[in-house]
Amino acid sequence: MAKSDYYELLGVDRNASDDVLKKAYRKLAVKYHPDKNHGDAKAEGKFKEISEAYDVLKDTKKRAAYDQYGHAAFQNGMGGGHHQGAGGVDPFDIFREAFGGGGGGGIFEDIFGGGGRSSSGAQSGSDLRYDLEITLEEAAKGTEKQIRYRRHISCKKCQGSGAEPGTGKSTCRTCNGTGQISSNRGFISFRQACPECSGTGQKIDSPCTECRGNGRTIDQSTVKVKIPEGVHTGSRLRSAGNGEAGINGGPSGDLYIILIVKEHELFERHEDDLFCEVPIKFSLACLGGTINVPTLFGKGNLKIPEGTQTGTTFRLRNQGMPHLSGGNGDLLVRIQVEVPKKLTKSQREKLESFSEACGDKGNPVSKSFVEKAKKFFN
Ligand SMILES: [Zn+2]
Ligand SMILES: [Zn+2]
Repeated sequence: MAKSDYYELLGVDRNASDDVLKKAYRKLAVKYHPDKNHGDAKAEGKFKEISEAYDVLKDTKKRAAYDQYGHAAFQNGMGGGHHQGAGGVDPFDIFREAFGGGGGGGIFEDIFGGGGRSSSGAQSGSDLRYDLEITLEEAAKGTEKQIRYRRHISCKKCQGSGAEPGTGKSTCRTCNGTGQISSNRGFISFRQACPECSGTGQKIDSPCTECRGNGRTIDQSTVKVKIPEGVHTGSRLRSAGNGEAGINGGPSGDLYIILIVKEHELFERHEDDLFCEVPIKFSLACLGGTINVPTLFGKGNLKIPEGTQTGTTFRLRNQGMPHLSGGNGDLLVRIQVEVPKKLTKSQREKLESFSEACGDKGNPVSKSFVEKAKKFFN
């Protein structure tokens, strides 16, 4: 399902001021708020959509990116912050379970005290995306790749607690240890994670010097990825738990590897069939014979019948790309008859006598053409 336009969702025009945006959002938020629409999944979906729209448009930078690139602005590049929900599932996605329900826009999580945030202040880490280029051969045979990327990992020194080893934690005074505070947004009252202690209810006495109390550090990670045979550009692989580390003991996000299959200098791919153009000598086209043709899996033999014309296409069964479901596509070889450009004297003489010997015979295509063209010559 295509994602709706953020401006349309909020019912404002593209140059609406921040004030107009805020008012439009509030009005809709009240209308679709889950508290008012108990168990109405449609309203909840709508609420989530408008929240996501507002979350983007209220932020000058995000809004500029959205104006320029649309939804694509938030689907590219390595993670960074919240991912944008399940939007834009592509038809080639072979690992459809990948994005499940899960993540929503920032506001949505705030309002409910956190989609990925439990009462202890634990928050799941963001998912990350890595675009990986592979060759057509690798896509045909499957391969294993190592990828290196930067991500937040749980701090090794404090094991993610954020407290300097040997020091403790005390009750947060802002929320009296409950981890939640009440706040007002417009005229709706929300319970929110305490900003002072990030919902943990506890304050670190002495922050870890390695992560400055964050519990996470940025580090280079290496992950081995197994790529099955038959993948396409856009195929998505999931490496569970290899996204950003969670916060306050929350689970890690996942790493998604999006595959890009590079173009090949000989083969053109159409679904799982491969096309290849093969030049043959003019004399071979006349006389027939057997030629070697390249395949992704080595060499293949192809019988050329006598009198083969340019454009004749031969199908070599099962020599194409593997299907993900098993079996292979075909290889289609299109023949191009090559006309020699320079002739030696003796070649020329022989060809001239060949031409004389032929007369009008032996060229069925030309003959039928001449028949049809006759009326134009008279
Ligand atoms: Zn630390
Ligand atoms: Zn607190």
